[in-house]
Amino acid sequence: MELPIVAYGDPVLRKKAEEIDENYPNLSKLIEDMFETMYASNGVGLAAPQIGLPIRLFVVDAAPFAEDDDDDEVDEACADFKRVFINPVIFEETGDEWGFEEGCLSIPGIREEVKRKERLKIEYYDENWDLYEEELDGILARIVQHEYDHIEGILFTDKISPLRRTLLQGRLVDISKGKVDVNYKMRFPKQQRKR
Ligand code: ZN
Repeated sequence: MELPIVAYGDPVLRKKAEEIDENYPNLSKLIEDMFETMYASNGVGLAAPQIGLPIRLFVVDAAPFAEDDDDDEVDEACADFKRVFINPVIFEETGDEWGFEEGCLSIPGIREEVKRKERLKIEYYDENWDLYEEELDGILARIVQHEYDHIEGILFTDKISPLRRTLLQGRLVDISKGKVDVNYKMRFPKQQRKR
């Protein structure tokens, strides 16, 4: 089932999300719905707060980046990178900061360059509650850093220059009011109900 994606301005996107345990109700259905929602909106990652749930869970499928890169090794890594992250902890970030133009399903139509560190180490549970430790770099690290920010209540627009943010302010307010063209289901915090 495709779920509506919560738009910029909703307080759920600003909460530090809570850990869950194996008793969390209907978790496998929720994960399935999150993948369906992400694919329907052509995203490469989706965090639970973006569908209105302040829990530490996100899904990633980097396959769309697989044909993007000149480097075959990067292509292959992206093609195989479909993951569920439950209660993840990024415990190390290293390398130089590099810039990349990011977008977000909760902030449609806006793309801005964000600087992030090159590499990270993360520990997380997958959908079967198996515990993993993984080292990621480049675009895969970037996707995970973006989604991890969501469960910390951080959006990529927090990480751009104050000047850029000021320039975008009007468009961000418009998004929160639903004044934006988007071809997937969304829920807008400040939208006037129409009869
Ligand atoms: Zn996002």
